[in-house]
Amino acid sequence: MIRVRFAPSPTGYFHVGGARTALYNWMLAKQSGGKFVLRIEDTDAERNKEEWVDGICNAMSWLGITWDEGPIRQSSRTKRHIEMALSLLEKGDAYYCDCRREDVEERNKASERTKQGYDGYCRDRKLEKSPTTVLRYKVPADGSTTVHDLVRGEVVVANENIDDFVLLKANESPLFVLANVVDDIDMEISHVLRAEEHLPNTPKAVLLFNSFGKEAPLFAHVPVLVNEKRQKLSKRRDRVAVEDFKDKGFLPEAMINYLALLGWSPKDNREFMTLDEMTAEFAIEDVGHSPSFFDEKKMEHFNGVYIRALSDSDFVGLLLPFLEKTTWWQGGDGNTAKLLALAPITKERVSLLGQATDLLLPVFAPEITIDEALFEKEVAPHASLISQVATLCANLDQFDAPSIEAMLRDLSATSEIPLRKLQSPIRVATTGAKAGLPLFELWEQTGKATVIDRLLASVQDASK
Ligand code: GLU
Repeated sequence: MIRVRFAPSPTGYFHVGGARTALYNWMLAKQSGGKFVLRIEDTDAERNKEEWVDGICNAMSWLGITWDEGPIRQSSRTKRHIEMALSLLEKGDAYYCDCRREDVEERNKASERTKQGYDGYCRDRKLEKSPTTVLRYKVPADGSTTVHDLVRGEVVVANENIDDFVLLKANESPLFVLANVVDDIDMEISHVLRAEEHLPNTPKAVLLFNSFGKEAPLFAHVPVLVNEKRQKLSKRRDRVAVEDFKDKGFLPEAMINYLALLGWSPKDNREFMTLDEMTAEFAIEDVGHSPSFFDEKKMEHFNGVYIRALSDSDFVGLLLPFLEKTTWWQGGDGNTAKLLALAPITKERVSLLGQATDLLLPVFAPEITIDEALFEKEVAPHASLISQVATLCANLDQFDAPSIEAMLRDLSATSEIPLRKLQSPIRVATTGAKAGLPLFELWEQTGKATVIDRLLASVQDASK
């Protein structure tokens, strides 16, 4: 059975790169009825924070990347890591070492050695444990170690190029490779699919699996994500937190679809796919080698497509949390009905849910504000036209989109002002913006009294 794990270190927000790694793992497990384990690699107490763990779990759940086991804290397994490290000491595959960094550097300088790492000084000294000794792994002097990587192919490293690495610090805290391998063994992980940055450590992991008498899992190291300058995505420089994208109004389905395609594509290269479809077709062997460009604009385009495919009521349901964050949204059945009526034309005009609030403000906010310069340019010179429109509106029996449209078309014909030009001042006067939702529908939902009030108020302001 395929058993995979996603093993984030909780040192920050959940990153799009992590989300893609988690997703690939998830698809790999789900396509064969396998299991997905969530393991929190939280052994670095200084850099890890509990709130990041919650953030990772919440963002994963939001994306729909569910776990079958866990979250298991690596920090709760320290005893086991130590026990396994000591078993290597017993076998003769590890030894205590009391070399200080300065000593090693001095020896390296004095010798002809071209390598700068640990020189194996304590290998045969048979030191006992003391408060200053670390436990090192004894890398075989000869031969080579092979990593079978489903993305990278076979990676062969000569053992003489691998330093005797530390398993336990002097205070007995386990180091990354040891804890990682022991956990993978105990959790019976069959496939380790993770970020490429871990490839250089993988020969060490393979050596440990061998020493523990276990077959190494299959590895797959997925290439990094880069920004438009081809720089590796960075938490400090680039927007990368899944939470931020959620807050802007990305839909999880759109993000999942876009992220899956960063490094993988289905055989027929189609772009829009459901999670089920992607899961059925995903193959690690088809993941590319080269860095993938994380293009937020393209992800936003995907999001727009997903938004337009939503039913009106789903769209409204997803929009409500965004409206509730504004100062002007009132809620209530009447407003929800208006929102539903506006859903089809709003969906067409946004690629992020968060963009909809500006479009809807003129309908639902009790007050609108008009920028002074815009008012002087677009509204003030057309006061008499605006006043005429206010009168025509007052005379309409039915204040619905078709009647409003017919009224304005008539006016355009008799005044010989093209409809588009005619709309500009009355749009600014009633919405505060030069562009927005189609005016007839927008006015219908804003309501006759409010539209006339705003038109007349702007006529009055123009005369001041
Ligand atoms: N904890 C490591 C990280 O967050 C991942 C290790 C692994 O997947 O093996 O980068």
